[in-house]
Amino acid sequence: MTDAAVCQSLEAWFARAMRPLPWRVSLRDPYRSLVSEFMLQQTQVSRVLEKFEPFVERFPNIGVLAAADEEAVLGEWSGLGYYRRARMLHACAQAIVENHSGVIPSGVDELMALPGIGRYTAGAMASMVFGDREPLVDGNVMRVLQRLHNNADQQTDPKTIKWAWERAAGLVEASGDPGALNESLMELGATVCTPKRIQCERCPLAGMCEALKAGTTESVPPPKPRAKRKELFCASVLVTDDAGRVLFEQRAPDGLWGNMWQVPTIERDDRPTASEMGQAAELIDSFIHQTTHRIVCFDVYRCDSWEITDGQRFLSVDQIDSLGVSNAQRRILEISDTL
Ligand code: SF4
Repeated sequence: MTDAAVCQSLEAWFARAMRPLPWRVSLRDPYRSLVSEFMLQQTQVSRVLEKFEPFVERFPNIGVLAAADEEAVLGEWSGLGYYRRARMLHACAQAIVENHSGVIPSGVDELMALPGIGRYTAGAMASMVFGDREPLVDGNVMRVLQRLHNNADQQTDPKTIKWAWERAAGLVEASGDPGALNESLMELGATVCTPKRIQCERCPLAGMCEALKAGTTESVPPPKPRAKRKELFCASVLVTDDAGRVLFEQRAPDGLWGNMWQVPTIERDDRPTASEMGQAAELIDSFIHQTTHRIVCFDVYRCDSWEITDGQRFLSVDQIDSLGVSNAQRRILEISDTL
Protein backbone atom coordinates (compact mmCIF):
# COMPACT_ATOMS: atom_id res chain seq x y z
CA MET A 1 0.00 0.00 0.00
CA THR A 2 1.44 3.40 -0.99
CA ASP A 3 0.21 6.79 0.18
CA ALA A 4 -0.41 7.77 -3.44
CA ALA A 5 -2.65 4.71 -3.98
CA VAL A 6 -4.61 5.45 -0.79
CA CYS A 7 -5.11 9.07 -1.86
CA GLN A 8 -6.23 8.17 -5.38
CA SER A 9 -8.82 5.69 -4.08
CA LEU A 10 -10.11 8.10 -1.44
CA GLU A 11 -10.34 11.16 -3.67
CA ALA A 12 -12.10 9.24 -6.48
CA TRP A 13 -14.56 7.77 -3.97
CA PHE A 14 -15.22 11.17 -2.36
CA ALA A 15 -16.00 12.79 -5.72
CA ARG A 16 -18.91 10.38 -6.22
CA ALA A 17 -19.98 9.63 -2.61
CA MET A 18 -19.82 12.92 -0.71
CA ARG A 19 -22.99 14.10 0.98
CA PRO A 20 -24.31 17.43 -0.38
CA LEU A 21 -23.95 19.40 2.85
CA PRO A 22 -24.85 23.13 2.73
CA TRP A 23 -21.34 24.30 3.71
CA ARG A 24 -20.03 22.25 0.78
CA VAL A 25 -22.30 24.00 -1.71
CA SER A 26 -20.02 27.01 -1.50
CA LEU A 27 -17.14 25.05 -0.07
CA ARG A 28 -14.51 27.65 -0.71
CA ASP A 29 -16.46 30.36 1.12
CA PRO A 30 -14.19 30.92 4.15
CA TYR A 31 -16.93 32.32 6.39
CA ARG A 32 -19.43 29.48 5.84
CA SER A 33 -16.63 26.97 6.32
CA LEU A 34 -15.52 28.63 9.56
CA VAL A 35 -19.05 28.60 10.99
CA SER A 36 -19.59 24.96 9.97
CA GLU A 37 -16.29 23.90 11.54
CA PHE A 38 -17.20 25.49 14.87
CA MET A 39 -20.68 23.96 14.77
CA LEU A 40 -19.42 20.50 13.86
CA GLN A 41 -17.02 20.27 16.81
CA GLN A 42 -18.67 17.59 19.01
CA THR A 43 -22.07 17.88 17.32
CA GLN A 44 -23.64 15.54 14.79
CA VAL A 45 -24.12 16.67 11.18
CA SER A 46 -27.91 16.11 11.38
CA ARG A 47 -28.18 18.64 14.23
CA VAL A 48 -25.89 21.15 12.56
CA LEU A 49 -27.99 20.92 9.37
CA GLU A 50 -30.97 22.41 11.23
CA LYS A 51 -29.02 25.34 12.61
CA PHE A 52 -26.46 26.23 9.95
CA GLU A 53 -28.56 28.16 7.39
CA PRO A 54 -30.57 30.18 9.95
CA PHE A 55 -27.28 31.13 11.65
CA VAL A 56 -25.53 32.34 8.47
CA GLU A 57 -28.71 34.10 7.37
CA ARG A 58 -28.83 36.04 10.65
CA PHE A 59 -25.05 36.66 10.66
CA PRO A 60 -24.10 36.61 6.94
CA ASN A 61 -20.45 37.60 7.32
CA ILE A 62 -17.60 38.07 9.78
CA GLY A 63 -18.37 41.78 10.29
CA VAL A 64 -22.03 41.23 11.19
CA LEU A 65 -21.14 38.35 13.53
CA ALA A 66 -18.39 40.37 15.23
CA ALA A 67 -20.73 43.32 15.82
CA ALA A 68 -23.61 41.19 17.16
CA ASP A 69 -24.48 40.95 20.87
CA GLU A 70 -23.25 37.76 22.48
CA GLU A 71 -26.80 37.13 23.62
CA ALA A 72 -28.04 37.13 20.00
CA VAL A 73 -25.27 34.70 18.99
CA LEU A 74 -26.10 32.36 21.86
CA GLY A 75 -29.79 32.61 20.95
CA GLU A 76 -29.15 31.53 17.35
CA TRP A 77 -26.87 28.73 18.62
CA SER A 78 -29.62 27.50 20.94
CA GLY A 79 -30.12 23.73 20.67
CA LEU A 80 -26.61 22.94 19.42
CA GLY A 81 -25.15 22.56 22.93
CA TYR A 82 -21.55 23.25 23.93
CA TYR A 83 -22.24 26.99 24.09
CA ARG A 84 -18.59 27.78 24.78
CA ARG A 85 -18.06 27.22 21.04
CA ALA A 86 -20.60 29.94 20.18
CA ARG A 87 -18.78 32.39 22.44
CA MET A 88 -15.45 31.34 20.90
CA LEU A 89 -16.79 31.78 17.35
CA HIS A 90 -18.01 35.24 18.31
CA ALA A 91 -14.61 36.12 19.85
CA CYS A 92 -12.89 34.66 16.77
CA ALA A 93 -14.93 36.92 14.45
CA GLN A 94 -14.05 39.94 16.59
CA ALA A 95 -10.33 39.04 16.49
CA ILE A 96 -10.49 38.66 12.69
CA VAL A 97 -12.04 42.13 12.39
CA GLU A 98 -9.52 43.67 14.81
CA ASN A 99 -6.34 41.95 13.66
CA HIS A 100 -7.01 40.95 10.03
CA SER A 101 -9.31 43.75 8.78
CA GLY A 102 -12.21 41.28 8.67
CA VAL A 103 -10.48 38.82 6.31
CA ILE A 104 -10.06 35.24 7.56
CA PRO A 105 -6.31 34.46 7.43
CA SER A 106 -5.13 31.42 5.45
CA GLY A 107 -1.99 30.26 7.31
CA VAL A 108 -2.23 27.55 9.98
CA ASP A 109 -0.20 29.60 12.49
CA GLU A 110 -2.34 32.72 12.04
CA LEU A 111 -5.51 30.63 12.23
CA MET A 112 -4.35 28.90 15.41
CA ALA A 113 -3.69 32.29 17.03
CA LEU A 114 -7.45 33.02 16.82
CA PRO A 115 -9.85 32.16 19.70
CA GLY A 116 -11.43 28.71 19.45
CA ILE A 117 -9.24 27.47 16.59
CA GLY A 118 -7.06 24.47 17.36
CA ARG A 119 -4.85 22.34 15.16
CA TYR A 120 -7.76 20.45 13.62
CA THR A 121 -9.86 23.50 12.64
CA ALA A 122 -6.76 25.31 11.35
CA GLY A 123 -5.90 22.27 9.19
CA ALA A 124 -9.49 22.06 7.93
CA MET A 125 -9.63 25.74 6.96
CA ALA A 126 -6.13 25.81 5.44
CA SER A 127 -6.63 22.68 3.33
CA MET A 128 -10.33 22.76 2.42
CA VAL A 129 -10.74 26.51 1.95
CA PHE A 130 -7.28 27.67 0.92
CA GLY A 131 -5.95 24.45 -0.69
CA ASP A 132 -2.79 24.22 1.44
CA ARG A 133 -1.06 20.89 2.07
CA GLU A 134 -2.01 20.83 5.76
CA PRO A 135 -3.19 17.66 7.51
CA LEU A 136 -6.04 17.29 9.97
CA VAL A 137 -6.94 14.60 12.46
CA ASP A 138 -10.28 14.25 14.20
CA GLY A 139 -11.92 11.16 15.69
CA ASN A 140 -13.12 9.90 12.30
CA VAL A 141 -9.73 10.35 10.61
CA MET A 142 -7.91 8.69 13.49
CA ARG A 143 -10.18 5.64 13.39
CA VAL A 144 -9.76 5.23 9.61
CA LEU A 145 -5.96 5.54 9.86
CA GLN A 146 -5.73 3.10 12.75
CA ARG A 147 -7.79 0.49 10.92
CA LEU A 148 -5.98 1.04 7.65
CA HIS A 149 -2.69 0.26 9.42
CA ASN A 150 -4.15 -2.11 12.02
CA ASN A 151 -2.80 0.14 14.76
CA ALA A 152 -4.50 -1.01 18.00
CA ASP A 153 -2.89 1.57 20.30
CA GLN A 154 -5.03 3.59 22.69
CA GLN A 155 -6.31 6.77 20.96
CA THR A 156 -5.66 8.97 23.98
CA ASP A 157 -1.95 8.02 24.08
CA PRO A 158 0.13 11.04 22.91
CA LYS A 159 2.28 8.64 20.86
CA THR A 160 -0.79 7.46 18.91
CA ILE A 161 -1.92 11.06 18.35
CA LYS A 162 1.55 11.99 17.05
CA TRP A 163 1.53 8.93 14.77
CA ALA A 164 -1.90 9.85 13.37
CA TRP A 165 -0.83 13.43 12.57
CA GLU A 166 2.31 12.13 10.85
CA ARG A 167 0.26 9.64 8.80
CA ALA A 168 -2.26 12.33 7.89
CA ALA A 169 0.60 14.63 6.85
CA GLY A 170 2.08 11.87 4.67
CA LEU A 171 -1.23 11.37 2.89
CA VAL A 172 -1.78 15.10 2.35
CA GLU A 173 1.67 15.31 0.73
CA ALA A 174 0.75 12.50 -1.68
CA SER A 175 -2.72 13.84 -2.48
CA GLY A 176 -3.96 15.50 -5.67
CA ASP A 177 -6.20 17.91 -3.71
CA PRO A 178 -5.36 18.31 0.00
CA GLY A 179 -8.83 19.59 0.90
CA ALA A 180 -10.62 16.74 -0.89
CA LEU A 181 -8.26 14.19 0.67
CA ASN A 182 -8.89 15.50 4.20
CA GLU A 183 -12.62 15.62 3.64
CA SER A 184 -12.66 12.14 2.16
CA LEU A 185 -10.94 10.72 5.25
CA MET A 186 -13.52 12.41 7.49
CA GLU A 187 -16.40 11.36 5.24
CA LEU A 188 -15.22 7.74 5.17
CA GLY A 189 -15.03 7.72 8.98
CA ALA A 190 -18.48 9.32 9.28
CA THR A 191 -20.34 7.14 6.77
CA VAL A 192 -18.47 3.85 6.10
CA CYS A 193 -15.64 3.22 8.56
CA THR A 194 -17.89 4.03 11.51
CA PRO A 195 -17.32 2.99 15.14
CA LYS A 196 -19.98 0.25 14.86
CA ARG A 197 -21.69 -1.46 11.89
CA ILE A 198 -18.61 -0.92 9.72
CA GLN A 199 -19.36 -1.25 5.99
CA CYS A 200 -16.07 -2.59 4.62
CA GLU A 201 -17.91 -3.88 1.52
CA ARG A 202 -18.51 -0.23 0.48
CA CYS A 203 -15.00 0.98 1.35
CA PRO A 204 -12.60 2.24 -1.34
CA LEU A 205 -9.68 1.16 0.89
CA ALA A 206 -10.86 -2.44 1.42
CA GLY A 207 -8.12 -3.87 -0.80
CA MET A 208 -5.40 -2.16 1.26
CA CYS A 209 -6.83 -2.28 4.78
CA GLU A 210 -4.62 -4.10 7.30
CA ALA A 211 -7.37 -4.42 9.93
CA LEU A 212 -9.72 -6.03 7.38
CA LYS A 213 -6.96 -8.46 6.40
CA ALA A 214 -6.26 -9.29 10.06
CA GLY A 215 -9.96 -9.56 11.01
CA THR A 216 -9.58 -6.88 13.70
CA THR A 217 -11.88 -4.15 12.37
CA GLU A 218 -14.21 -4.49 15.40
CA SER A 219 -11.43 -4.20 17.99
CA VAL A 220 -9.36 -1.42 16.37
CA PRO A 221 -9.23 1.19 17.78
CA PRO A 222 -9.73 -0.09 21.37
CA PRO A 223 -12.54 1.52 23.42
CA LYS A 224 -11.51 4.65 25.32
CA PRO A 225 -11.36 4.39 29.12
CA ARG A 226 -14.37 6.34 30.38
CA ALA A 227 -13.88 9.15 32.90
CA LYS A 228 -16.50 9.09 35.64
CA ARG A 229 -19.01 11.91 35.11
CA LYS A 230 -19.60 14.29 38.02
CA GLU A 231 -23.09 14.56 39.48
CA LEU A 232 -24.75 17.94 39.88
CA PHE A 233 -28.16 18.69 41.40
CA CYS A 234 -30.41 21.54 40.27
CA ALA A 235 -33.67 22.68 41.82
CA SER A 236 -35.43 24.89 39.25
CA VAL A 237 -38.52 26.95 39.97
CA LEU A 238 -41.21 27.87 37.47
CA VAL A 239 -42.74 31.22 38.31
CA THR A 240 -45.21 32.82 35.89
CA ASP A 241 -47.00 36.16 35.88
CA ASP A 242 -50.61 36.88 34.86
CA ALA A 243 -49.56 37.32 31.19
CA GLY A 244 -48.09 33.79 31.11
CA ARG A 245 -44.50 35.06 31.05
CA VAL A 246 -41.85 33.01 32.87
CA LEU A 247 -39.32 34.30 35.39
CA PHE A 248 -35.75 33.96 34.12
CA GLU A 249 -32.22 34.81 35.24
CA GLN A 250 -28.85 34.77 33.48
CA ARG A 251 -26.12 32.36 34.54
CA ALA A 252 -22.61 33.49 35.43
CA PRO A 253 -20.30 33.85 32.39
CA ASP A 254 -17.99 30.96 33.28
CA GLY A 255 -18.56 27.24 33.61
CA LEU A 256 -21.44 25.05 32.54
CA TRP A 257 -24.02 26.90 30.36
CA GLY A 258 -22.11 30.17 30.94
CA ASN A 259 -24.17 33.35 30.27
CA MET A 260 -27.22 31.33 29.24
CA TRP A 261 -30.69 32.00 30.59
CA GLN A 262 -32.55 29.75 33.02
CA VAL A 263 -35.51 29.74 35.36
CA PRO A 264 -34.37 30.53 38.95
CA THR A 265 -32.20 27.59 39.96
CA ILE A 266 -30.30 26.41 43.02
CA GLU A 267 -27.34 24.30 41.93
CA ARG A 268 -25.23 22.10 44.21
CA ASP A 269 -23.23 18.88 44.55
CA ASP A 270 -25.95 17.49 46.83
CA ARG A 271 -29.72 17.52 46.24
CA PRO A 272 -31.53 20.63 47.55
CA THR A 273 -34.55 19.61 49.64
CA ALA A 274 -38.14 20.68 48.95
CA SER A 275 -38.21 22.71 52.17
CA GLU A 276 -35.31 24.84 50.92
CA MET A 277 -37.46 25.99 48.02
CA GLY A 278 -39.98 27.67 50.32
CA GLN A 279 -43.31 26.43 51.59
CA ALA A 280 -45.26 27.51 48.52
CA ALA A 281 -43.08 25.54 46.06
CA GLU A 282 -44.59 22.36 44.70
CA LEU A 283 -42.42 19.63 43.11
CA ILE A 284 -43.92 18.87 39.66
CA ASP A 285 -41.29 16.73 37.93
CA SER A 286 -37.70 15.43 37.98
CA PHE A 287 -35.40 14.40 35.15
CA ILE A 288 -31.76 13.68 34.40
CA HIS A 289 -29.81 15.62 31.78
CA GLN A 290 -26.42 14.32 30.67
CA THR A 291 -23.58 16.45 29.32
CA THR A 292 -20.11 15.24 28.29
CA HIS A 293 -18.68 15.69 31.75
CA ARG A 294 -21.69 15.76 34.05
CA ILE A 295 -24.91 14.06 35.05
CA VAL A 296 -27.30 16.84 36.04
CA CYS A 297 -30.35 15.86 38.13
CA PHE A 298 -33.15 18.42 37.87
CA ASP A 299 -36.05 18.81 40.32
CA VAL A 300 -38.64 21.14 38.82
CA TYR A 301 -40.87 23.14 41.15
CA ARG A 302 -43.77 25.50 40.56
CA CYS A 303 -44.26 28.45 42.87
CA ASP A 304 -46.90 31.20 42.92
CA SER A 305 -45.32 33.44 45.54
CA TRP A 306 -41.64 33.70 44.68
CA GLU A 307 -39.55 36.58 45.96
CA ILE A 308 -37.98 38.10 42.85
CA THR A 309 -34.33 39.11 43.24
CA ASP A 310 -32.03 41.44 41.24
CA GLY A 311 -31.34 40.21 37.72
CA GLN A 312 -34.48 38.07 37.48
CA ARG A 313 -37.14 39.14 34.99
CA PHE A 314 -40.28 37.83 33.33
CA LEU A 315 -39.87 36.83 29.67
CA SER A 316 -42.43 35.93 27.00
CA VAL A 317 -42.08 32.79 24.85
CA ASP A 318 -40.81 34.94 21.93
CA GLN A 319 -38.18 36.57 24.11
CA ILE A 320 -37.08 33.18 25.44
CA ASP A 321 -36.75 31.89 21.86
CA SER A 322 -34.35 34.68 20.94
CA LEU A 323 -32.07 34.07 23.94
CA GLY A 324 -29.52 31.36 24.63
CA VAL A 325 -31.47 28.68 26.48
CA SER A 326 -30.07 25.18 27.05
CA ASN A 327 -31.94 22.02 26.10
CA ALA A 328 -32.40 21.25 29.79
CA GLN A 329 -34.20 24.58 30.29
CA ARG A 330 -36.35 23.92 27.22
CA ARG A 331 -37.38 20.64 28.80
CA ILE A 332 -38.39 22.49 31.97
CA LEU A 333 -40.54 24.85 29.89
CA GLU A 334 -42.10 21.88 28.12
CA ILE A 335 -42.95 20.34 31.50
CA SER A 336 -44.79 23.54 32.34
CA ASP A 337 -46.49 23.61 28.90
CA THR A 338 -44.94 27.03 28.28
CA LEU A 339 -43.42 26.10 24.90
S1 SF4 B 1 -11.90 -1.67 4.91
FE1 SF4 B 1 -13.29 -1.49 6.62
S2 SF4 B 1 -12.00 -1.15 8.41
FE2 SF4 B 1 -10.73 -0.82 6.62
S3 SF4 B 1 -10.81 1.39 6.28
FE3 SF4 B 1 -12.42 0.48 5.04
S4 SF4 B 1 -14.29 0.51 6.30
FE4 SF4 B 1 -12.50 0.87 7.63
